[in-house]
This record gives sequence, structure tokens and C-alpha cells, in this order.
Amino acid sequence: MRTDLAVRSVPVFYSDAYVLAEHAFDTTRKARWVAQSLRDRPIAGIALETPTPLTEADVLACHDPEYVAAVRTGEPGSLASSNGFAWDGGLWDMVLASNGGAVAAALRALETGAVAGSLSSGLHHARRSTGAGFCTFNGLALAARRALDAGARSVLIVDLDAHCGGGTAQILADEPRVTTLDIAVVAFDRYRPSDPSSLDLVVDPAAYLPTLRRRLDALHSGAFDLVLYNAGMDPFERCFIGGLSGMTRDLLAERETTLFRWCRAHRLPVAFVLAGGYVNSGFTQSELVDLHRLTMSAAASRERS
Ligand SMILES: [Zn+2]
Repeated sequence: MRTDLAVRSVPVFYSDAYVLAEHAFDTTRKARWVAQSLRDRPIAGIALETPTPLTEADVLACHDPEYVAAVRTGEPGSLASSNGFAWDGGLWDMVLASNGGAVAAALRALETGAVAGSLSSGLHHARRSTGAGFCTFNGLALAARRALDAGARSVLIVDLDAHCGGGTAQILADEPRVTTLDIAVVAFDRYRPSDPSSLDLVVDPAAYLPTLRRRLDALHSGAFDLVLYNAGMDPFERCFIGGLSGMTRDLLAERETTLFRWCRAHRLPVAFVLAGGYVNSGFTQSELVDLHRLTMSAAASRERS
């Protein structure tokens, strides 16, 4: 009797605390849009779960005390709002919750050997001592650090947001157990990686998937205990921040399938977060939600044999 046909649900972490900040724009609101869409139109094999928020001590694993205190108290204002949006009292609980989700997804994936996710965004530009580019605390770095502390020998970060992940690179610069594969389509937050093959800036959409496949295939997959996937949808051609002409929904759907299939083929646990994606007059909220649902559909189908 085949026993490997059982369908395992993919836990996706979310709580309403993810959207507590008063400053309303995509990064502080879209987790709720996506969560609501999962309630209205469930994706088979995806199950929402509430994460445990991080503590201040957890955040200090990757961020300086002065910066962490500024995010908690709002003072000094320039540091508290260095993420790029106005500080308010809800920000602290929001980022403890959303980064708690990123950490929870990483630990769950590591524990089960399967897939987990979080509807977190606003992660990869955050530095050790400052926010940047709508990112407050770096959930990718925090999740990688916690996974290593929990016993992972090595972690692969795949960052497919439109922008480069300069914050993650800075925070983890001295961590040899983390490997990064960062494929961006715009140069914002570009950095100089110690391994040049870990960062690509792709400006031709026809080269995007071939670059991803080539970089994945060049990795020694057996070297990793966990993949952290920053699943930005801002490369989409009609996204006004990050969008690259020719980057279609179909192409992004293929990207998601490619990544999760690669992880499955190599039996690698993977934890995903949402990353970028910004609506404007030519790109609606429901279209953005639909793009982020592609990640979850691909994640759920990976778990089906
Ligand atoms: Zn981005």
C-alpha cells in the first residue's frame, strides 16, 4: 500500500497583528488581504496558523539595541521611521508578530522537512542598525539565525524580490553557514557579495527563469538543511515599484513552480514569506493577491505526491 500519497497541509502563519501599524500601504496591509482571500477562496492544502510573536531578545539576535529601542518607543524619530514610513505605536507589535511568523515558518519547515510559510513582508532591506525600503526588522536573517540555533547546519536564502536584499547580506555577512541566491530585476539595495554568483541583476525577462534554473542547478543541494524563500511579486510588469516589462503572471507562476519543484526534488524543507508587491492605478489589489496566491498554490502542490 502506498503511504506516500497523504496530503500534508502547508501551515501559513498569519495574525491580525501583522497589520497593526496605522500607516496604511501594501507592506502594512497586504497580509490581511491575502489571509482574507484564503478564507474566501481556500487553496487546498493551505492552513492558516497563528504564530507566536518574537520577543525583544529574539530581535536582538540580528539588530542593534539602539535601533530595536527606537522601533519600540518611537524615539529618535528618524531611526524609528528609517523603514520609510511614519512610526506609530502599532509598529512594534506588528513587526514582532510578522517576524515571529517568518521564524515560525522556518522552524516548522525544519522540524517537518516540508513546506511552511508566513504572510510576512518588509524584510530584506532591514539592516542591523536601521530600517530601509519599507523593511523594519529582517525576518530572513532572524529566521536563518533561529534555524541555525535550532540545529540547521546550513541555510539557503533564495531572494526573488524585484530588489536586491542588501540588508540580509549585511546582517549575515559573517555567517558562513548561510548561502544566498538573490535574483533581482532592479538595482535598488545592490551590494557586493563575497561570491559574485550569489547576486544577479536580470534586466531581460527572457533571461529570468533560465538564470534561476542555472543558479539552482549550480548549487550543491545536499549542503542545505533549509531553504528560506523571499517570494516577492514586485518583478511583475505592472507593479510600479520594481516591475520589469515582460515579467508576466505566467512567468511568475512558472517561477514558483520551478522553485518548489527544485526544493522537492532535493528533499529540502522550505519556508516562504511574501516580500514585495505594490498596487497602483494599473495593478489592482486583487491582482496582487492573486500573484501571492501563486506562491501558496505551488507550495501546496509540492506537498502532493
Ligand atoms: Zn522589492
